[in-house]
Amino acid sequence: MIRYALACEQGHAFETWFQNSAAYDRQAARSLISCPICGSTKVTKALMTPQISGAKKRDDPAPVAMVSPQEREFRKKLKELREHLVKNADYVGQKFPEEARKMHYGEVEHRSIYGEATSEQAKELHEEGIEFHPLPVLPDERN
Ligand SMILES: [Zn+2]
Repeated sequence: MIRYALACEQGHAFETWFQNSAAYDRQAARSLISCPICGSTKVTKALMTPQISGAKKRDDPAPVAMVSPQEREFRKKLKELREHLVKNADYVGQKFPEEARKMHYGEVEHRSIYGEATSEQAKELHEEGIEFHPLPVLPDERN
């Protein structure tokens, strides 16, 4: 036997015992489960009951992907682009917004630079019409 916490479309919460999860699926598919309060058969499984969710180990989902050969090729190109950029551009670190502005306003000559900008700084640069691109980061380099 398995106990499910259920809720109808009106939000009435109730619990019902089933033989097993397949029995629940069968009965739910045929609208055989009805709300004891309003009689609605539009019933769905509610969130897990607190005593179960409390015991469950917290495991936050992380982004994952299956990579096709084409994407592997793309990833290789990204890596090349990144390596090219890093080799040919000046690293300015957190002075990136300052340096980007100087170039934009013609205070210094245009060149390729890369560095870091906070999302707030990035937003400001965009608002000033300064064009830049995020440096491609490969998934396995993020930590
Ligand atoms: Zn109801």
